[in-house]
Amino acid sequence: MQASEGMRRFDLSGRVVWVTGASRGIGAALAVALARGGASLVLGARRIEDLDETARAVAAAGAAVLPVALDVTKTASIEGSVRRATERFGRLDVLVNNAGIEEVRPSFDVDEELWDRILDTNLKGAFFAAQAAGRAMRAGGGGSIVNIASLTSMVGVPTAVPYGSSKSGLLGMTRALAAEWAPFGIRVNAIAPGYFRTSMTDTFYESGDWQERMLGRIPMNRFGELDDLAGAAQFLASDASAYMTGQCIAIDGGFLASI
Ligand code: NDP
Repeated sequence: MQASEGMRRFDLSGRVVWVTGASRGIGAALAVALARGGASLVLGARRIEDLDETARAVAAAGAAVLPVALDVTKTASIEGSVRRATERFGRLDVLVNNAGIEEVRPSFDVDEELWDRILDTNLKGAFFAAQAAGRAMRAGGGGSIVNIASLTSMVGVPTAVPYGSSKSGLLGMTRALAAEWAPFGIRVNAIAPGYFRTSMTDTFYESGDWQERMLGRIPMNRFGELDDLAGAAQFLASDASAYMTGQCIAIDGGFLASI
């Protein structure tokens, strides 16, 4: 195969991508990256006005964009988003299941409210987004789902038990859906980002010697930049990963590979 043919498999022209949690952080960065890769974008977050900045950046990349208010804890909201997407673009090819929340708390103090809030968003929300998107993908002959997992899908982080449980569950869901939906041409994979500074993680960076301790665990000795995630997302979204399903790519500067 010629190099140019290999590169063509990354092309997302004509593909419709839905990114949940696209108003800031990782979701916003991935939406813009995939728009630059040729895709049309459907953007979701709870307040539609919060999607303005990402929508402008996607449009500046030359892509068609549809912002839709979305609360992944509500299945009616999820289904409404997929309906709007297919009405506007006629199809849905890719879901980046990114919407997520985190709150650290010692496990003895975790109450039902916190557990439900995190699990409803990160795991239940991700499942029903995959289900609704999967139905549209099945109707269109296939697609690709990219779940945004975490280091906590693989290792235990003290005081992050609800979050780690949700992200470990997300990886189990990735494998089970991959096995079930392969016959429909729907691939399901995950990306596990290491530490990326966003509004979710900002307080960690500001607390005590956290940065120093974490850098000591990261062989590359730096935190992730949002651009570090773009290549893997485009790979998993596109035909470049056509024979890959049920897998997780860690992008963590070597954290999981080392002791
Ligand atoms: P941010 O807090 O910066 O962004 C989270 C996004 O999710 C926002 O757009 C937010 O919008 C949206 N969101 C939250 N709740 C809902 C909901 N109920 N319905 C729809 N959208 C929702 O976080 P990050 O960018 O850091 O995180 C993105 C994903 O990456 C998460 O799944 C996180 O767990 C994961 N991750 C992050 C890491 C990091 O280091 N930052 C590391 C590993 C994984 P709004 O609140 O307006 O609805």
